[in-house]
Amino acid sequence: TKYVLITGGVVSGLGKGVTASSVGVVLKACDLRVTCIKIDPYLNTDAGTMSPFEHGEVFVLDDGGEVDLDLGNYERFIDVTLTRDNNITTGKIYQSVIEKERRGDYLGKTVQVVPHVTDEIKQWIQSVSSVPVDGQTHPADVCVIELGGTVGDIESMPFIEALRQLSFSLGKENFCLIHVSLVPVLGVVGEQKTKPTQHSVRELRALGLTPDLLACRSAQPLIGSVKEKLSQFCHVPVENILNIHDVPNLWHVPLILRNQKAHEAIIRQLNLVGSSGPPDLR
Ligand code: ADP
Repeated sequence: TKYVLITGGVVSGLGKGVTASSVGVVLKACDLRVTCIKIDPYLNTDAGTMSPFEHGEVFVLDDGGEVDLDLGNYERFIDVTLTRDNNITTGKIYQSVIEKERRGDYLGKTVQVVPHVTDEIKQWIQSVSSVPVDGQTHPADVCVIELGGTVGDIESMPFIEALRQLSFSLGKENFCLIHVSLVPVLGVVGEQKTKPTQHSVRELRALGLTPDLLACRSAQPLIGSVKEKLSQFCHVPVENILNIHDVPNLWHVPLILRNQKAHEAIIRQLNLVGSSGPPDLR
């Protein structure tokens, strides 16, 4: 299984979930089998105890797991049946580490965030991604991982570190990072500003992760010179800069990605063999 990690920068609520689901749709349309993991860096074990006013509705999976709404998006967009383990939270990770500590599994070691919590995260990701979710018997080709929150948040640090280690050990051909960021428009002149994206890419780099693709959210489609600027300053090839502008209907997002050949960029990055030609999305 190869991994596509979706991170977000600048502000929350950018549409990482929608981006992750839509990436799943275009990859699936290339005849690749896809599974998903959502990481929520909060301490609640699951979304069952969280107010829907604060967090949106709880989504209930077939196995009874009460999880983040994004898993509902994945199930609908990609047509898979996920389990509670496809939603990783800080609460679940710590619960598991503490249970192991009480059992004596760490053999007297001092239990620490690095390496014990980060190892737990890596193991969880690798074991869940190998479980087929589309009714077939062998693991999916690609696992899309969405990291909730914004890069740089204290809460998400152990996950960032675990994902950095994972990307290093798996190598470039097995790990593709898509960073979702915002390109706002300032003032009546309507200039599209790249600086917030530059800063958030720098923050990501400082933590040891390098984006392979950028997914820039904007109100209107980006103009060509803005893409070139982003490419130059963020060190990402211009063909790997995707632009997801505001759309009236979320089902347009996979089409936007297909039109910008997102699938080709990801397949190239991961050295995968997808079906030839543009995916058929109806
Ligand atoms: P995140 O996972 O980053 O918190 P979500 O995927 O939950 O963000 O999306 C946040 C909100 O933005 C949702 O209500 C979603 O419907 C909306 N949204 C996401 N992408 C777009 C888009 N391209 N156009 C319009 N609305 C969008």
